[in-house]
Amino acid sequence: MVKGLRACPICPDCGSKKFRIIERNDDAGKVTVECASCARRITV
Ligand SMILES: [Zn+2]
Repeated sequence: MVKGLRACPICPDCGSKKFRIIERNDDAGKVTVECASCARRITV
C-alpha cells in the first residue's frame, strides 16, 4: 500500500480518478496531486 494516498481522489472539476503526484508532505500526511485530464491540483 502506498503511504499517503489512502483513497482514490476524484477530481471535483471533471470527475477523473487519474492523478499524478506533484508533491508529498510526509510530515502533514498530505499529498498534492494533479488531475491527468484537466490539470487541476488538489491536496489529499
Ligand atoms: Zn480534472
